[in-house]
Amino acid sequence: MVSRTIPVDAFDLIIFGGTGDLARRKILPALFKRFCAGQMPAPSRLIGAARAEMSAADYREIARAALLEFAGEAALDDASVTEFCQTLEYVAVDARDGRGWDDLSAMLTDGPVRAFYYSVGPGLFSDLSARLHKHGLVNAETRIVVEKPFGHDLDSARGLNRELAQHFDESQIYRIDHYLGKETVQNLMAVRFGNMLFEPLWNAQYIDHIQITVAETVGVGGRGEYYENAGAMRDMMQNHLMQLLCLIAMEPPAMFEPDAVRDEKLKVIRALDVVQPHHIVRGQYTAADGYSSYREDVGNPRSKTESFIALKCHLNNWRWAGTPFYLRTGKRLKERDSEITVVFKDTPHSIFGPEAGRHRNELTIQLQPDEGITLGVTIKEPGPGGMRLIDVPLDMSFAEALGPDADTPDAYERLIMDVIRGNQTLFMRNDEVEAAWAWTDPIIRGWEARGDAPKPYDSFSAGPDDAALLMRRDGREWRGITH
Ligand code: NAD
Repeated sequence: MVSRTIPVDAFDLIIFGGTGDLARRKILPALFKRFCAGQMPAPSRLIGAARAEMSAADYREIARAALLEFAGEAALDDASVTEFCQTLEYVAVDARDGRGWDDLSAMLTDGPVRAFYYSVGPGLFSDLSARLHKHGLVNAETRIVVEKPFGHDLDSARGLNRELAQHFDESQIYRIDHYLGKETVQNLMAVRFGNMLFEPLWNAQYIDHIQITVAETVGVGGRGEYYENAGAMRDMMQNHLMQLLCLIAMEPPAMFEPDAVRDEKLKVIRALDVVQPHHIVRGQYTAADGYSSYREDVGNPRSKTESFIALKCHLNNWRWAGTPFYLRTGKRLKERDSEITVVFKDTPHSIFGPEAGRHRNELTIQLQPDEGITLGVTIKEPGPGGMRLIDVPLDMSFAEALGPDADTPDAYERLIMDVIRGNQTLFMRNDEVEAAWAWTDPIIRGWEARGDAPKPYDSFSAGPDDAALLMRRDGREWRGITH
């Protein structure tokens, strides 16, 4: 089954930071795939904008190399790659001075949707916005796409929001969190709100707990300087895991439309309890054969920044009172694994007696490496010998269910097209981001005040043992990667 491609109007997309890592790894490949799907109708234009002086031909070569490296099988079609690259323009601009802005201005015409993708460090957001205005490049059809990190704490996020608000209406600002563009994350909403089956059970009465894991095998790599000032709490928990928590815990919005969805997400963040210090485990990876330690990676032998965090939190509302949410994320763990598991409670009474053992339904939403949803159900073990029970998965792997030609676009493909269509549902609103920081800030300030140091953990393990204890103290176990 091949998915439908919904037509979009012609657009101009200007990528500030068009030569950078993100543009090459994600944005250009995503645009190329949408181009191949017929979603770049003429006279749409893509304009790379960055500091380096080069011609459009040079930029097309950079783009071609990026597609060959990062666009997967789609890039095997040489004719499509060439055709796509021919559409690319380039302009050398400096966000910090006047260089190149008149050239950019001369390239743009009124009419089509005009999207500026800020794929540059957040220190340039303000300069870019001011220059776009100064050069008259902002019209009613203008949108900006803003990458993470959105602020370092509540104060800086507020400051950034204020600066952007000086130049743009909130309806023009698309704060991107690529986790929200994942097919399965949206399927989570379809599963919850498109079926009668789950929603009546989706509360503290029937759900024992919910856990969210986002585990990576990679270390901090070349991002050491940024990461050392951020840590797992700011880099992952405040945004990606918080967004997943919102979607799993929110009330049904009245409509699947931007503000209705974002209002409900905001209520989740605001209902979050203050996390107790003993409900948080921080870790830092140590060296392994051929792999340096976190401290070596960031060049700080006394670093107290966490590359792993696990925590238990509660939502103070009617639906979730008493249900713990366990969240963990980290680098250099033993598997790349992102999943949400909803663990239902035991049946109130086992008619099969104690020998049948303990069985619970679990709904697992797998985001990485493969996307899919699995419901664990309890059945009788086949064969004679009495009523022995086993748990088996009712599997909904998209690749299998939808057939080999199913099109599951990359998160960036979907999100960029949503920007062009003017649909903000999957983008974070200013108050959401600030609420997430308001929850995060006191936790980080507490560590700083106490001088907390993260626990060392072995590279390619499941993180510090204390993370397992956080669960075991409550009689529970992590799903996915285990200790
Ligand atoms: P990068 O350092 O690889 O690229 C930066 C780009 O900005 C380059 O094209 C450079 O020419 C341009 N630039 C720098 N100073 C400029 C100036 N004064 N005027 C105009 N252009 C200028 O960075 P990146 O990894 O591509 O990241 C870009 C943004 O995306 C950052 O905010 C980063 O935090 C965010 N981000 C990156 C990733 C990733 O995987 N790389 C993931 C999530 C978010």
